[in-house]
Amino acid sequence: MSVVDLRSDTVTRPTAAMRAAMHDAELGDDVFGDDPTVNALQERIAAVLGKEAALFVPTGTQSNLTAIMTHCGRGDEYIVGQMAHTYRWEGGGAAVLGSVQPQPLEHQPDGTLALKDIDAAVKPDDSHFARSRLLCLENTIGGKVLPLAYVAEATALARRRGLATHLDGARLFNAAVKLEVPARDIAGHFDSVSVCFSKGLGAPAGSCLVGPRDFISAAHRWRKMLGGGMRQAGVLAAAALHALDHHVERLDDDHALAQRLAAGLQGLPGLTIEPPQTNILFADLQGERAAGLMAHLKSRGILATGLYRLRFVTHLDVDADGVDRTISAMREHLQA
Ligand SMILES: *Cc1c(COP(=O)(O)O)cnc(C)c1O
Repeated sequence: MSVVDLRSDTVTRPTAAMRAAMHDAELGDDVFGDDPTVNALQERIAAVLGKEAALFVPTGTQSNLTAIMTHCGRGDEYIVGQMAHTYRWEGGGAAVLGSVQPQPLEHQPDGTLALKDIDAAVKPDDSHFARSRLLCLENTIGGKVLPLAYVAEATALARRRGLATHLDGARLFNAAVKLEVPARDIAGHFDSVSVCFSKGLGAPAGSCLVGPRDFISAAHRWRKMLGGGMRQAGVLAAAALHALDHHVERLDDDHALAQRLAAGLQGLPGLTIEPPQTNILFADLQGERAAGLMAHLKSRGILATGLYRLRFVTHLDVDADGVDRTISAMREHLQA
């Protein structure tokens, strides 16, 4: 029985074509700046996102931390959502390693931070307070796409209040494909953007931080200090380049599969589905069936997560058959 792994879009294995691209990559030592494949990736992603420069890093966590530490110094703070990855899911790195205090705000139901909340969170220039320096947004957030008009307004407000802006765009391409706009139309509103190649794009590892040239050269020093200076990293950059060529437009397929799953689960007893916008489906399960669900799914070869809520993520290594098996296993358990 093959496993249908819906825990995350990070579980994808590189395709045969991606492995071939990795195998054939020209390599150098990227700490010396002479890995041609890393350099090609950095130029490519900077151009794709409309920025001057880019920096290849091992993980999205390091990319965001590097960005926060480049924008902010000791005693500064960044404004961020309560459920944002940079705040909740990165071990508190900005505070621990950067001496940068987070100022978390509640999300609105659509994943945005209310403009009035952002405005009110910016602290006066007074020695009682940390210095408000940065607004950090995430797109997609929990699979939801931030409306473009909102992104424009929130970043304009940040600039008016003297804040820099960073986008955690781990799944930026999911948002762009969903909105049917070039990714640079979203990225253009921010000073810096982090994107992951290891999520829906299907690469085994790697993220890029993009921004102005002087920002990226300052970030380069933090990356080295954080342990992110890799050597023949072109092996990984080749996978990312392959993903940019072949795995962006197809994100639509993942979104369609999430819709198929949502339709198939609709109306099951005790289950409330949040209609998916991209490749992440959240559901809440009430009643006595909740406890045994994960074990039942596992017994049918289906993996999902249920840390806060039940979560299913579609990706390159899931097909319609896997989604239909998931629907059957859920029906079996909840209708029994
Ligand atoms: C996955 C993810 C990251 C970074 O994760 P890594 O596992 O460190 O690569 C950052 N932000 C969001 C929104 C993510 O989903």
